[in-house]
Amino acid sequence: MSEYGKLLFKIRVHPTLWFVIGIAILTAHFIEVMMLLLIVFIHEMGHAVCAQHFKWRIKSIQLLPFGGAVETEEYGNKSLKEDLAVVLAGPLQHVWLIGAAFLLYFFTIIPYELYQPFLYMNLMLLIFNLLPIWPLDGGRLLFIGVSLYCTFLEAQKHTLHFSAVFAFLAFFDLAHSGSAQFEHLAHHLFHKSFTRHGMAAEVLCVHPLSFAAPLRAYE
Ligand SMILES: [Zn+2]
Repeated sequence: MSEYGKLLFKIRVHPTLWFVIGIAILTAHFIEVMMLLLIVFIHEMGHAVCAQHFKWRIKSIQLLPFGGAVETEEYGNKSLKEDLAVVLAGPLQHVWLIGAAFLLYFFTIIPYELYQPFLYMNLMLLIFNLLPIWPLDGGRLLFIGVSLYCTFLEAQKHTLHFSAVFAFLAFFDLAHSGSAQFEHLAHHLFHKSFTRHGMAAEVLCVHPLSFAAPLRAYE
């Protein structure tokens, strides 16, 4: 089996995710939750395949109830160029997913009812994930940018400080916007930016159910 095929054996499904899937079935959100899981899975595989390409040691590809994470055993020992490629490989997946979905919809292979939430989820994940907050991909890009001007440890410190300030602002801004969905996301993000300082893992911090709820409005 190829090195890339072996990645599939590193996929870990967090036990609480089954609980979320169970709730999704009970509340008739099954399709939305499965769709989101698929998108998160492809996003994480983007990071994983790119990391594998550079021969990084990958510990696990995790599917969590609030997103996903690729855990590697590389702690700042890889070049910024490789780092940049691995970070970008996640968000880039949404670009082709949106393109493919558009083509499928355009040629009436999938109905609007599937296309619309799929597009919405991809755009939400892409935008949310690029916020300059650690450990989101946007926070990683910020870290890489700051690294160009100072040492690794200084860059780490500055990134975490900036993340905390930005998460704090985002929390108040989004919470005041009155959208329960954004409030939920902002809360998750705010919490994570302070508690998760591990530099090798990625967390999307997006709860599938927070996406499923507003989707019903489009039906
Ligand atoms: Zn990512």
